[in-house]
Amino acid sequence: MGELQAEVERRGERIFELVDEHPEPLFSKAGFYQGMMALSMRDEHFKVQLFRFVDVLASLHRGTDIVQHLDEYFADMRNGYRPLIRTGVLLAKIVPWISGQALRWNVSGMARQFIAGKNPEDVMKTLRKRRAQGIGFTVDLLGEAVVSEKEAAEYATRCLDLLEHLCRETRGWTDPLGKNAELFPVVNLSVKISALYSQMNPAAPTDAIAHLAPKLRPILRRARELGAFVNFDMESFAHKNPTLELFKTLFIESEFRDWPHVGIVSQAYLGDAEEDLWDLIDWGRKRGTRFAVRLVKGAYWDYEKIKSRQNGWACPVFLQKPESDLNFELLTRMLLENESIVTAAFGSHNVRSIAHAQALADQLGIDRSRFEFQLLYGMAGPVKRALVEMGYRVREYCPVGELLPGMSYLVRRLLENTSNEGFLRAKFSDNVSEAQLLRDPAELVDQNPNGARHIDVSGDGASLDTPPGDTYENAPLVNFVYEQNQERMRAAIEHVRTQLGQKYPIVINGEKIWTDKTIASINPTDPEHVVGHVAEAGIPEAERAVKAARDAFDKWSRTSFETRCRLLERAADIMQRRRYELSALEVFEVGKAWAEADGDIREAMDFCLFYAQQMRLIGRPRLTQHVLGEESYQHYWPRGVALVISPWNFPLAILTGMTTAALVAGNTVIIKPAEQSAVIGAMLMEIFEEAGVPRGVLNYMPGKGSVIGAHLVDHKDVDLIAFTGSREVGLRIWESAGKTREGQRELKRVICEMGGKNAVIIDSDADLDEAVVDTIYSAFGYQGQKCSACSRLIVLEDIYPRAIERLLNAAASLHVGNPEDPSVTVGPVIDGAAHKRILEYIDIGKQEARLAFQRADVPAKGFFIPPTIFTNVSPQTKIACEEIFGPVLSVIKARDLDEAIEIANSTDYALTAGFFSRSPANIGRAKAEICAGNVYINRSCTGAVVGRHPFGGFKMSGGGTKAGGADYLLQFVVPRVVTENITRHGFAPETTPQYRDEFLWPPRR
Ligand SMILES: Cc1cc2nc3c(=O)[nH]c(=O)nc-3n(C[C@H](O)[C@H](O)[C@H](O)COP(=O)(O)OP(=O)(O)OC[C@H]3O[C@@H](n4cnc5c(N)ncnc54)[C@H](O)[C@@H]3O)c2cc1C
Repeated sequence: MGELQAEVERRGERIFELVDEHPEPLFSKAGFYQGMMALSMRDEHFKVQLFRFVDVLASLHRGTDIVQHLDEYFADMRNGYRPLIRTGVLLAKIVPWISGQALRWNVSGMARQFIAGKNPEDVMKTLRKRRAQGIGFTVDLLGEAVVSEKEAAEYATRCLDLLEHLCRETRGWTDPLGKNAELFPVVNLSVKISALYSQMNPAAPTDAIAHLAPKLRPILRRARELGAFVNFDMESFAHKNPTLELFKTLFIESEFRDWPHVGIVSQAYLGDAEEDLWDLIDWGRKRGTRFAVRLVKGAYWDYEKIKSRQNGWACPVFLQKPESDLNFELLTRMLLENESIVTAAFGSHNVRSIAHAQALADQLGIDRSRFEFQLLYGMAGPVKRALVEMGYRVREYCPVGELLPGMSYLVRRLLENTSNEGFLRAKFSDNVSEAQLLRDPAELVDQNPNGARHIDVSGDGASLDTPPGDTYENAPLVNFVYEQNQERMRAAIEHVRTQLGQKYPIVINGEKIWTDKTIASINPTDPEHVVGHVAEAGIPEAERAVKAARDAFDKWSRTSFETRCRLLERAADIMQRRRYELSALEVFEVGKAWAEADGDIREAMDFCLFYAQQMRLIGRPRLTQHVLGEESYQHYWPRGVALVISPWNFPLAILTGMTTAALVAGNTVIIKPAEQSAVIGAMLMEIFEEAGVPRGVLNYMPGKGSVIGAHLVDHKDVDLIAFTGSREVGLRIWESAGKTREGQRELKRVICEMGGKNAVIIDSDADLDEAVVDTIYSAFGYQGQKCSACSRLIVLEDIYPRAIERLLNAAASLHVGNPEDPSVTVGPVIDGAAHKRILEYIDIGKQEARLAFQRADVPAKGFFIPPTIFTNVSPQTKIACEEIFGPVLSVIKARDLDEAIEIANSTDYALTAGFFSRSPANIGRAKAEICAGNVYINRSCTGAVVGRHPFGGFKMSGGGTKAGGADYLLQFVVPRVVTENITRHGFAPETTPQYRDEFLWPPRR
């Protein structure tokens, strides 16, 4: 055993000895909390229900509501406590007022376990007690998630007030160790950066810094005047780089450059923590003044894992607990070895991590008064006491705030304390041996290269994990957290800018065709700017295209589906290669913000890959039933010539989705993209040409819908029409396709996706932090021009005032402008006609309802519509019933859930809907009763992901098909069954194969 390890063990044993000398419960408040924690650790289902109940409780005010939720969360418990819980619930129902308050009191007790005080006055009682125990403090202001600039300003004011109060109240307090006191001011404030700016966007760190720095300077200035210390806490990975940049930017300014009392957090669970810390140390040396680093493992482990899995990103956190422990020790060494410039604070409750820091500091000859240990309020009290007894500097992290905003903090602590991997649980609940707890983490890391240690990252931060064979793994989104990805997007925008204004031909039968007329596709941000000129097809070209597609059909339909699948996969590869360029083009041609544009390209890639996968599943003739003496195989033939008419709002994704579904099923295709996004349509043609699509199989036909669109729809040789667009055109196509023309071979199949008037309901117990942010995104993301966008917000009476206040403030904080700027979330609407139509609706809204909010400061040039919110909207009015397709939201108040659902279901449409609630019973009702093709609970109602959220509606929203779903390809084929009697004179083979390829249509010759 190494010398250091021996010393770590000696130190650790000493801490344990001291801990055992003063036996006290792990958590300062025993009773109810201890009981709940013990049960949670034994029963995972109970734990989930308990944490969810705790999460909602603070928003419930009436005793009956509390008891109702208690019943909903716990009535179906399957553990041994079921009878007890049932009896408790029954009793609670008898006197809900009393039991509701009792429950609230108990759970408040749990929260008080971790929250040091309700307000600045209240927290002083705790701080004085700790002072007497030789423990210092850092104070953190708890708050709701900040969703608007008004809320951010309030947080800044609260920070200043708290500072003033603490400094006033602690005047005369001295350093507990009386040594090196100049490094450790008594008053220490921990600041959450995301609480100071509501529009933090990972793609735009510069914007974040530009907004945050002016808000922070007055706080920092005052802290310095008062002799206080300010620490920047670290939050999720998406905020890490801006927080680091902000820290380095501010504290190099002449005003703060020589101020040593500033600190930042390093999270050891991050794979890139070491690199960041080196960078900080180098920065500190250049700056020439000390600064502090609080080293922690990190509080968002579960969140980071979930988020990266959902988006196909490499997980930024280590996946094995000992890796985080080991990294913590590595970073401990870095901090201590650079003690001349950085003051270390070790934020951990883990005795091994603490003992290691102690042993290493001794080995390096660093006096114990020159660094500190920081522990959270309400946790590991005996460890704090032991450290004080050993003569170390201890500071407690004390959250201050009300119960409601404190809930998310409480849930994080509950998770931490019941985590299977956590030190506290191992030591104080599972009674793991001390020797085990003090083991060197290096020995515990699983070195197996297939184990979780390996963090699989491609160059741009995408995950390279391989999915299980039976599920479709989506193409990753670009993660704009990484600077290199921001840089690529910026470069692509500059590159595409130089390419604008080119001419694009019609493509028929592989030939490029120019006509006399062109369509100019313009940039909606700057309508004088032409993105490209596209040759305009007329009737003669339409006729040629149909003939080419018809001629090519014979061969293409006989091409093996595997060949067709590979064509789609090659197209996806090309999209991936040209990904940034395509996104940049969307910024110019249709005014999409960066992340929206990237989402569209990702979806297009997904359609290629998903439909290829689906085709492989249905491509082979499959035995229908095992029956002796006879075999029947079902399989699919393509329908013929497909006409694809696509909209401009998802210019690549929807076009690609309908096209690839038709192609991979063996149809030949004519694409007619929307005029407004015809250049992106030309790009899809280019991509398929490069991928090797045979002549005539795919034909690009830009032109006017009213001319060639109508002509092609009516054409006797067009067998299938895949359309996404307005209700008006959709219904016309549906009607026209119902007529059989002379010479027509097939009944025309129409795949028709139209609009929506989508509702989001906010229930009275909803988490407004989420509901407001997601509703704003659903209503104003891509300027409200998604068919899935929320255009009606139905809010229950009880929560209405608070929800509306936060919603209006959040809308006022959105960035409206040129989407080339990554910080912009709301760009222009698509064209002059849309601009005019939406403004007319806004005028109608002013007659029908109350204009509650309208942005004043939108750019004068370009087709910008100010985000607009109407309240007091009656469900029967035009603005509540008709599709507006712009950044206009109608808010309707509902008495109760019955009325809310009735209103939600009252339009002609049934596309998407959202529901925010924390009541399991109400969630159950919404799932069953809301009339929409895609119902989303507790999340935005836009952003369907291929394969995960098959997308499409019914009623006047569409024919009931689901793009990106398992049954979508079936719309593009005709099914066929071939049955053969295989009995000969009473004799038949015992087995029949599951698949037969022999008679794939048309028969092989
Ligand atoms: C004073 C103080 C301030 C803090 N400030 C911040 C802050 O600003 N930002 C922040 O993010 N955190 C912060 N934390 C850290 C966080 O809140 C947790 O308290 C801390 O991570 C718990 O670690 P531990 O060493 O006490 O316990 P341990 O039980 O040793 O470690 C638990 C931690 O290990 C990590 N972990 C768990 N499972 C795995 C796994 N499978 N693979 C890899 N790693 C895993 C997680 O980070 C988890 O929290 C702070 C902690 C303290 C004490």
